[in-house]
Formats: sequence, C-alpha cells, structure tokens
Amino acid sequence: MRVKGAIAAGTLLALAACAASRPQAKAPTEPPPAPRPAVQLPVAPASGGTSFSFKGAMSQGGMLIGTAPGGTISLVLDGADVPLGADGRFLIAFGRDHGPTATLTATRRDGTTVVDHLAVAPREWRIESLPIPKYRQPPAEFLRIRAGELAQIKAARVQAASIVSDGWRQSFIWPANARVSGLFGAQRVYKGEKGSYHSGLDLAVPQGTPIRAPADGVVLLAASGDPFTLEGHLLMVGHGMGLDSAFLHLSHIDVKVGDVVRQGQVIGESGMTGRATGPHLHWALTWRGERIDPLLVESTSPVPE
Ligand SMILES: [Zn+2]
Repeated sequence: MRVKGAIAAGTLLALAACAASRPQAKAPTEPPPAPRPAVQLPVAPASGGTSFSFKGAMSQGGMLIGTAPGGTISLVLDGADVPLGADGRFLIAFGRDHGPTATLTATRRDGTTVVDHLAVAPREWRIESLPIPKYRQPPAEFLRIRAGELAQIKAARVQAASIVSDGWRQSFIWPANARVSGLFGAQRVYKGEKGSYHSGLDLAVPQGTPIRAPADGVVLLAASGDPFTLEGHLLMVGHGMGLDSAFLHLSHIDVKVGDVVRQGQVIGESGMTGRATGPHLHWALTWRGERIDPLLVESTSPVPE
C-alpha cells in the first residue's frame, strides 16, 4: 500500500485510494441520505419479538444486519432514519472513528418505542509516524480535475441510497482471492499531524486479475474512460440500503452504470491506474459516509478459485 508521488492536500479525499499514504486534511462531506419513499412503508413482522437482534461486528468499522422488534414502522439511528426491509431487517454500520455509543430507536405501529443503546467497541489502528510535513499545495490543474471526479463520486453515493438491491443481505465474498497488503484504518502521522486513514482493504493481486462482485448490486459509477487521478479506473456498486463497494485502480471495467450484477460475477480486472505504485485492488465499503472494514463483514471469503 505505497503510493506514487507526493501530492498532498486538504481536498484530495473522497474514495481515498490508499489514503493512509497520501497526506490530506479533511474528510469529504458525504451527501445526505435520500428521502425515504412515502409509499407502503414496511412493517416488521410480529415474529420479530420485542427487542432488536443483530448479526455482525458492533465495533468501529463494523457493519451489522439487524432485525427490528415486531410491528416496527420506523427506525432511527442517532437522529437519522434507517430504512427497514419488508421482513423487518435493516443495515447499520459504524465508521472507523465512531464514538463508543449509538442509539437506535424503533417506533412500532401501536405508537410504542423500543430504544437500544449500542456499545460500539473501539479498535486499535496501525499508526505510522513520519518526520516529514503533511501539507503541500497541489497544482491548480489537479484541483480542477479533482473537483469533477469528486462530484461524480458524490452523485454515485446519492444514488446508492435509492437503488434497490438485496446484496446487503448476502454473505459477502472477496472480490479476489489474494493476500491482504494494506489494512483498513491504517494512518500516517506527519510531524505530529494526522494524515487521512486508509479507507479500504488492499488486496495484492497481479495486473489483469478478474475482480468479482462481492454481493449482488447495481453499478453506480464506472470510470472506464479517463482514469480518475487517484482512484484510476474506478467502479462503484450499490448493494442496497445505502451500502456501496468501490474498486480502485482497475485496468479494465466490464460493466456500465445501471447494470445489475450478481455475486461472483466478473466486473473488471485489477491494475494500477490512478495513484498506485503497483498492481493491487483497493476495495472500500461505505454506508452513508461511514467507512466499513471489509475484514469485519460477514463473509465466506476468500472466494474459491
Ligand atoms: Zn488502498
């Protein structure tokens, strides 16, 4: 997970290809979740019981599939609505720097509420201190191009909140069967000043390795033309409920925006486009701006060859 060049700057961000290696100052502002449709809101079945149940990692960087109490008609996590599946299941996640608690509130059809105070376990991250300064002004030309790329990524994330897919319910597979070469959450500190953390998982795959959809989804962004400055040929797939996967540095993309992809389907080939010193796959999972550690996602990985 080394990165070529030394461009650093406040606003390099977004998907953050190997962000730990690129000094940067500020996380991007994530788009607000799309409004929930006003039609036919699901109601959790009575079999859901009287309390919440969860499957997954209740920790920083963790993602959980929950089941709402029976009769639930609306769910709120720390003040923000959470969409509910027709069977009463839902998805929540906690970013790398999430605080120690979260409050989940279900409102039931009879007007009663069920409140669960969740304990979000802290984790320790790999921190590397460097004796060099963090900030360097990137060229104006870079910033100009970058603004357009960030707008596309932001639009894809807005889309992620509204596409319909049940991929989020699946047991994920890894997009490639390979050694982990860069951990989620790793961070460099430059003369005491924190750089951004590594927002995904790096997998050491040779150039041209087939990349598979880790779960069902809908293609949100396919940068098949000019590679993005940092992410290169970037592919983003929405898995429903606001969850998306991003695949960076691809040499080739096999799908286009709007395509429905199935778990295990080859969607592209690995490469080293964008900011990367060697071929690898950077796989990032995001839910409403919360960065998720792919190593914590319930999975059957790595994928069988
Ligand atoms: Zn990376």
